[in-house]
Amino acid sequence: MDASQRIDEIRQTLNRYSYEYYVLDQPTVPDATYDQLLRELTELETEHPELITPDSPTQRVGAAPLEAFEKVTHDLPMLSLGNVFDETEIREWVARIERSLGRSTTYVAELKFDGLAISLKYEDGRFVRGATRGDGTVGENITQNLRTIKALPLRLQAEATIEVRGEAYMPKQSFERLNKDRASREETLFANPRNAAAGSLRQLDSSITASRNLSLFVYGVGVNTLTARSHSEAMAQLASLGLPTNQHMQTCETVEEILAYIAHWTEARASLPYEIDGIVLKVDRYDDQEELGFTAKSPRFATAYKFAAEEVMTTVEDVDFSV
Ligand code: NAD
Repeated sequence: MDASQRIDEIRQTLNRYSYEYYVLDQPTVPDATYDQLLRELTELETEHPELITPDSPTQRVGAAPLEAFEKVTHDLPMLSLGNVFDETEIREWVARIERSLGRSTTYVAELKFDGLAISLKYEDGRFVRGATRGDGTVGENITQNLRTIKALPLRLQAEATIEVRGEAYMPKQSFERLNKDRASREETLFANPRNAAAGSLRQLDSSITASRNLSLFVYGVGVNTLTARSHSEAMAQLASLGLPTNQHMQTCETVEEILAYIAHWTEARASLPYEIDGIVLKVDRYDDQEELGFTAKSPRFATAYKFAAEEVMTTVEDVDFSV
């Protein structure tokens, strides 16, 4: 098989996996399988740049929004993150950043919450709109469903006009309770908390969402009206506005500190009341972030370290996302 045929084959497979994952909330393969194929495709496209097409999965973020919800065009695109999978790649990522900047810099390490990316818009301190990421440019308006999440403040502690970004998730306990109830009613089970959260937020009846006990962390700013000059300062300001930020973020001055943070949470993740699927690394200072800029799909100043797969897949027949 030549490169062009292999590229076509991988694209078709990845498109099918993405559809199952993002649109149906019903993955049929573990994330690691998806990630590995995406990496093979990226490598093939690097060797054969003439074969890159705008609709290649390497050029896209997420999937198109569902028809059932009103569409929302994001004021600023909601991008994805590049991935790193091991210590060597983390060291390379840090080295690349410091080479670009011509000096060392400060990083922030955060938990990578395994839920659904959302955008929350506040006007004069009032929550006015919540949306899914969708394909990064256009998402779904899920304001009514997000209003049911108790961790989401409907009024901020100041009259700020701001768009923040975060992750809606289903705590492990809510997930276990939900699947237990479903089992007792002989209903099909959700594959994992991420799929359950995504399915719960895309309900047309928000009383169902309300019954699912979702929660939320904010991890960044979209349209930024804060005075902060760094990500860590911004997060402190978001917390003081009353938004739910995560207590485990940590600034790191060196790659060794980053590796220690990762080693710690690889072990300690089981003790968290919610699922994480990796660690997100971000360059802290906004002026450094600006200097590093973006690729088509993701910022160069941030990346996601993904934990090795341990997920047990549920077969399609076992999963129901229609309720
Ligand atoms: P990603 O999950 O690799 O990373 C980006 C996302 O991380 C952000 O959109 C955000 O929602 C989330 N995030 C969590 N905590 C964060 C934090 N502290 N700071 C910033 N962001 C944070 O990228 P993606 O584009 O959302 O999705 C790709 C993922 O979907 C991969 O894990 C891939 O394996 C999986 N996937 C799986 C299948 C499948 O069939 N199994 C199909 C498609 C995609």
